[in-house]
Amino acid sequence: MKASSSGALSGDEYSRYLRDRLKQLEETNHGLRGTLEKTERERRYYEEMRVRYEREIRKLRTELEKLRAAPLIIGTIVEVIDDKRMVVRSSTGPRFVVNYSQFIDPKDAVPGAQVGLNQQSLAVVSVLPSAKDPSVYGMEVIESPDVSYEVIGGLNGQIEEIKEVVELPLTKPERFERVGVVPPKGVLLVGVPGTGKTLLAKAVAKRTSATFIRIVGSELVQKYIGEGARMVRELFELAKEKAPSILFIDEIDAIAARRVEDGTSGEREVQRTMMQLLAEIDGFDQRGDVRIIGATNRPDILDPALLRPGRFDRVIEIPIPDKEGRKDIFRIHISEMKLKKDVDLDNLAALTENATGADIKAISIEAGMFAVKGNKKAIGMEEFEHAIKKIMSNEQRFYINAKEMGVMFA
Ligand code: ATP
Repeated sequence: MKASSSGALSGDEYSRYLRDRLKQLEETNHGLRGTLEKTERERRYYEEMRVRYEREIRKLRTELEKLRAAPLIIGTIVEVIDDKRMVVRSSTGPRFVVNYSQFIDPKDAVPGAQVGLNQQSLAVVSVLPSAKDPSVYGMEVIESPDVSYEVIGGLNGQIEEIKEVVELPLTKPERFERVGVVPPKGVLLVGVPGTGKTLLAKAVAKRTSATFIRIVGSELVQKYIGEGARMVRELFELAKEKAPSILFIDEIDAIAARRVEDGTSGEREVQRTMMQLLAEIDGFDQRGDVRIIGATNRPDILDPALLRPGRFDRVIEIPIPDKEGRKDIFRIHISEMKLKKDVDLDNLAALTENATGADIKAISIEAGMFAVKGNKKAIGMEEFEHAIKKIMSNEQRFYINAKEMGVMFA
């Protein structure tokens, strides 16, 4: 700024100076306000981040504590004494009187329930939910199986019998009521593996729109005391929940073999599981909509208690298919395949003496595979002969029969 000769600013100059200065200060003020807003925004952002990280730290700490926590021992409630104490059985066997947490809902603390026990005091810390997840027990649960009677070959008589004792009680219970007859509770299918026992059970489930529940007996044989019995109880609970249902127990001999008193704890555990099975069968309504089908290929070793009236009181034998049966089964399994004219069912049936339904299915698939590998347009007798050789050659029974028939497969 230029001063006048006297050194003083003229009035005009001074007011311009003040305006400029004011403008400058306003601009600075504006800039500072912007910076303040930005800083304020940043402060809020960092504050949010701090809260978020603190939450994360808390979560990780809890997780860490959870991971470091001592494991609980699994036990089973035997009896609730009062509102403070109960008798539990640990998985290793002995029983204890223990305290239980006040947070446990008395409704859940029922005999038989599985609980988590503190390692030192064995106090009951929590009641575990009953594991009805079928996959845990190796169960197969199919709401509506896709097997019909038409895909079962050579078992017409057996299908009729199954219809009578399993299907009718489910679909037409009034017929039994009318004449005052109680339908059999359980049906035992007896036959070697692969003869179609599972197929039959599935087909009857489909026909009656029932849920199909399958468990293999050996899955019920457990290492720990009381486990097998608990599984049987839960299995029946599941069957009732899903009713109408068909409960199919495959390899039932694994838990229902005749009792041999060898006194080992493993043996006693199998017996306990079997007793629970009998109790469950006895305990449910014969006219109800849960039907039990057992399957075994060792009826000779079954405990007679299982076969008493009111339990598995109908035994249906599922034989190895005869020649006509084998023709039927071949017809079913090759129905969708493209075949050459030389494929002859009589011939196939003659070549597969002693083959089960499962063998025939495997032979049909294998013949198809040979045709695919050989890039053929259709499957011929040659492929079937190859397949029969491959599937049956390891089986002693077939060798014997093949020799008898004068047909040798080297
Ligand atoms: P396991 O005792 O080992 O369970 P299983 O007697 O129950 O044997 P399935 O599982 O029913 O035998 O049969 C196995 C397969 O073999 C079936 O999926 C089916 O394709 C075929 N199969 C067995 N028997 C027959 C049959 N009679 N008719 C048509 N197919 C059959």
